[in-house]
Amino acid sequence: MTTHQITAVERLMVIDGKDVGSAVDEWFERESPAHDVVVGRYPQARAADVDNAVRAARRAFDEGPWPRMSGAERAQLLYRVAELIRRDAEQLARTEVLESGKPISQARDEIEGSAGLWEYAATLARHSYGDAHNQLGEDVLALVVQEPVGVVGVITPWNFPLLIASQKLPFALAVGCTAVVKPSELTPGTTVHLTRLLLEAGIPEGVVNTVTGAGETGSALTSHPGIDLISFTGSTAVGRLVARTAGEQLKRVELELGGKNPQIVLPDADLDAALDAIVFGIYFNAGECCNSGSRVLVHRVIAEELQTAVVERSRQVPVGDPLDETTKVGAIVNQQQLDTIERYVGEGNADGAQLLLGGDRLSLPTGTGRFYQPTVFTGVTPEMSIAREEIFGPVLSLIAFDDLDDAIRIANSTMYGLSAGIWTRNIDAALTAARGIRAGTVWVNRWMDGYPELPFGGYGASGLGRELGRQALTAFTETKTIQLQVGPRTARWLPEEA
Ligand code: NAD
Repeated sequence: MTTHQITAVERLMVIDGKDVGSAVDEWFERESPAHDVVVGRYPQARAADVDNAVRAARRAFDEGPWPRMSGAERAQLLYRVAELIRRDAEQLARTEVLESGKPISQARDEIEGSAGLWEYAATLARHSYGDAHNQLGEDVLALVVQEPVGVVGVITPWNFPLLIASQKLPFALAVGCTAVVKPSELTPGTTVHLTRLLLEAGIPEGVVNTVTGAGETGSALTSHPGIDLISFTGSTAVGRLVARTAGEQLKRVELELGGKNPQIVLPDADLDAALDAIVFGIYFNAGECCNSGSRVLVHRVIAEELQTAVVERSRQVPVGDPLDETTKVGAIVNQQQLDTIERYVGEGNADGAQLLLGGDRLSLPTGTGRFYQPTVFTGVTPEMSIAREEIFGPVLSLIAFDDLDDAIRIANSTMYGLSAGIWTRNIDAALTAARGIRAGTVWVNRWMDGYPELPFGGYGASGLGRELGRQALTAFTETKTIQLQVGPRTARWLPEEA
């Protein structure tokens, strides 16, 4: 694929069912990080646009049909959205590639995964119910009902644009919430496209509104008094700001943040399988992944053997034009991210880690784009920044340990706790690690797969709350207790008048 086949698309925002520009008629552009050409043009939403969007969502919630429909009716519409995502899959995948730099084959999988999330949420729409209490005494019956929390502000990052929007939105909609969505300014295309598909599916106007813009737009959404819950995925630094505003205003908040995820390799592991998972874990999405397996903790007795093999496999990873069907690792999302990767590699070298492979930019024959070489450090110790901080690039840190307790201690030594893995044939070691590691997901002899049925989220600085699974609905509902008198009220506070 050559650059001349790439054209820029202009996409308006969607507020109250209508395509709109921004009130001040300002625009921003997105360039393809692999091809250096403009691929998208979007309105720059200011506070007034956010206000319009929140008011539309508020009206749709307070007065519209959506929260009043049956779960079954909402489920039908969510299924229809999944069908429309599949109909437009190729277009959506291409938009994802051009805005994020990820490989086309991976983008197709993410679009299909997104459709699956809408389908799963549709099943839950018919299963949002509470409890009944019949053992509180003869004269009382109590109901505990789950009500939609209200208007949800959805803020998403650039690394998995449609997938992450689909980890939030259909679950919020399933229980009857309405929403304002703010995708990353780097990758708004598929979220705007999705908003139009929701209207086409028959979801009423104003139920989902999408505004485009950067941090300032996200901040206007977070602080808007008409928002009841902020569901945020992004960096831990911005997550803290969102949580602070939510705390001041006593808004509900749900956060999916960063990670520095360890894979532990014991000497008895199936090393071939572990090796594949190690290179997949660090190079998938160019390492720009919250679940990136960016730390490999390896038992000292196999450390040398493993590091040689990791370097060998890393050399085989096809980095290239993301529109090429055979590419596994595409472009780095923008210059700022590339600078961050280079800064961390510099710190790794300065701290005395040994660079085994990569450590530099990569130029493609086309001469366009920003790419980074698969990079492997060994001799990394837990206090180095490349062992503790989220780099968000294709940079692997190999850390040696002496026994399982040591490995678990190192695994738990960062502020994060999103995910972790262990490679061993010893069931006791696997279970000890699975229970001892403080992370939201632990994989045993597998890595980084997910299912809509399984809850996902982080301990510590990796987040607050859980997405997916049956529990997904919890964040989007309030619990109400209804107490009913049965028969005459005989218990008196003041004595009855004679
Ligand atoms: P980011 O925090 O820079 O931005 C995320 C979103 O927040 C964007 O839409 C951005 O415009 C918006 N934003 C920026 N400043 C804001 C503010 N002050 N108030 C409100 N919104 C604001 O993150 P990113 O660089 O887009 O994404 C990468 C980060 O996301 C990584 O740290 C990664 O680990 C994390 N992430 C986590 C998960 C997860 O599920 N735990 C999944 C994917 C990505």
